Amino acid sequence: MTSKMQQIVLASRPDGAPGHDNFRLESADMPTPGDGEILVEVSHMSLDPYMRGRMDDAKSYAAPVPIGGKMEGGSVGRVLASNVANFAEGDHVFGPFGWATHSVADARMCRKLDPTQAPVTTALGVLGMPGFTGWWGLNEYGRPKQGETLAVAAATGPVGSMVGQLAKAKGLRAVGIAGGAEKCTLATDTFGFDACIDHRAHATVNDLRGALKDACPDGIDIYFENVGGKVLEASLSLMNPFGRIPVCGMIAWYNAGGLGADANGEGLTGPKLWRTILVNFLSVNGFIIANHWDRFPDFVREVAPMIADGRVKYQEDITEGLENAPQAFMDLLTGGNHGKAIVKVN
Ligand code: NDP
Repeated sequence: MTSKMQQIVLASRPDGAPGHDNFRLESADMPTPGDGEILVEVSHMSLDPYMRGRMDDAKSYAAPVPIGGKMEGGSVGRVLASNVANFAEGDHVFGPFGWATHSVADARMCRKLDPTQAPVTTALGVLGMPGFTGWWGLNEYGRPKQGETLAVAAATGPVGSMVGQLAKAKGLRAVGIAGGAEKCTLATDTFGFDACIDHRAHATVNDLRGALKDACPDGIDIYFENVGGKVLEASLSLMNPFGRIPVCGMIAWYNAGGLGADANGEGLTGPKLWRTILVNFLSVNGFIIANHWDRFPDFVREVAPMIADGRVKYQEDITEGLENAPQAFMDLLTGGNHGKAIVKVN
């Protein structure tokens, strides 16, 4: 075994969109697992939008990554050494290994994977945290009913594509919003959305609202909030009475720091938002999936068979090389990914 490993650390905090100088690739000594820990060689690491929040020193649901600290994230790999009975050398495992070629972790934070059941990379996307997010948010707060209309943006990503496919399976009309014609085709032809609106082709809120209105002739019952910004504003006025808005993410505003509404100049105002919620009797529920891991086995029980028999499809966008993780992450934040963003590390 080599005595060195590589990792990417947070070199500085971004002011707005992250750039290459916010990251640094470092060589470090191979860590040694302590009591209750395992040493893992990472094969694939996940890139997720929440990582942008960890780069800011702002009040949030999780502590920021310290300057000089390893970028955090979930990964899959093989166990190289184990100090616990339930993991053995060679086991495939998912865990919080961060942006690194190798890592030690508390074994209680890791989950064994069976590569004969599903490719290990699915533990980062469709059968991992993002897929679980879509399943939980839709069922718990969307409360979908047959015949209703659902709208979701980032429709070809791992959260949005799960939401759309599950909504279709439950007999809803599913309308996606995605960036570009290619992604819209992916949304309808692969993920089965009834329609998909290209938010980039509709520059103003009014334009986008018009296109969405055409695609949602009966209004919107569930707006699964993934992005905020222009899409939120266009969707709000189409909400039906007693509609539901699971608030999952707002990536359009992530570069604006902790409470950066209006950062893109969309002009969404508090009074407008509150009034819409009031007069339409909307249920708006924010959630962080990390608080709901107790339901993960239920998700796997329901969705794994749907993936196995093709009722739920997924797409992965794999970048080669740890050193290319910062660029792939920047691409993810601006819609450059085509499916679940993953970096192949080893
Ligand atoms: P994706 O893989 O879908 O990637 C993010 C996508 O967001 C981009 O590809 C892009 O898609 C879209 N996007 C970026 N900027 C904008 C913009 N200004 N307006 C509209 N769309 C934009 O991400 P995930 O599926 O992993 O995550 C989707 C959302 O869910 C994120 O907001 C994320 O933070 C959130 N999330 C929340 C969790 C929770 O616990 N609450 C857990 C997991 C994810 P396109 O090119 O199609 O516009």
